[in-house]
Amino acid sequence: MPAITVDDILTLPRIPSPDPVVMKERPVRSVTSAPAALEGEGFPVRRAFAGVALSDLDPFIHMDQMGEVEYAPGEPKGTPWHPHRGFETVTYMIDGVFDHQDSNGGGGRITNGDTQWMTAGAGILHIESPPEFLVASGGLFHGVQLWVNLPRANKWNPPRYQDIRGREATLLTTEDGGALVRVIAGEVAGHKGPGSTFTPITYLHASLSPGARLALPWPADFNALAYVLAGQGSAGAAGRPVGTGQLAVFGPGDFLSLAASPRQDSHIPYMEVLVLGGLPIREPVVHYGPFVMNSKDEIIQALEDYQAGRLGRIPAASMPHRHPGDADLGSEVR
Ligand code: MN
Repeated sequence: MPAITVDDILTLPRIPSPDPVVMKERPVRSVTSAPAALEGEGFPVRRAFAGVALSDLDPFIHMDQMGEVEYAPGEPKGTPWHPHRGFETVTYMIDGVFDHQDSNGGGGRITNGDTQWMTAGAGILHIESPPEFLVASGGLFHGVQLWVNLPRANKWNPPRYQDIRGREATLLTTEDGGALVRVIAGEVAGHKGPGSTFTPITYLHASLSPGARLALPWPADFNALAYVLAGQGSAGAAGRPVGTGQLAVFGPGDFLSLAASPRQDSHIPYMEVLVLGGLPIREPVVHYGPFVMNSKDEIIQALEDYQAGRLGRIPAASMPHRHPGDADLGSEVR
């Protein structure tokens, strides 16, 4: 799991340990296990938020852990061209390579800790696919796609694209150097990450050494979630066990904590965790396929607008795709 690493972790700024006398630790409210499914043309994903109420996820809608999978030659899969409206997709690539193109002129190649941030707003079409050389060679593939909702006031904004290179992430560590924290968006202890959002959020990837503890100050008005990409450990003061493919939802408070088990599987050197939260939007959410709106009427309008070509057109110079037909919007196309 390369993502972005650092030669000497002790050169990084330290996150001060929250003082439990003056700050309240967030309790763990639930731990859920992500079911496995197949996405797009058939790549394996874990639905990280399955079984969790939208009110606990707000302002997030959906998160897929894509892989980790070792593809044989000819096997890597992507998505067909498909639309989005009403939210932002945030794709963080840990291993492997993913190409992206959209109908608004955005796009590029992400790999090794890069993030692409696509604000669908009023409407966009896009395609996500491994490059041809990776399809030919096969290889390791591991990434995460997060959906961040837009408030009603921003759902009709023009689309926008942010390309965030892995080395732009803000790197931090704990007082004892036991954890590497990569801040992708938002801020931790005053250290800001590069991603810019309409809804305030914090999104980070932490790697905890065996036995390490990570305590993060967290805005009291944000929700707080921790998803374990790999490894074993615990969440919260009570030491609730969490492991690969599990999501911890934290209750109210000023900071949260995670700890890696002293012993990890030999092929997984660190406990890898995504920690995320944001300011809840608290508006009605109607989610159908690739659209996230405030009402059923707006979903019907999105379907009509897509059929009429008002969400964008596939560019003449489209990157290669193996399923040139329309996406089946009733299926789980992301
Ligand atoms: Mn998509």
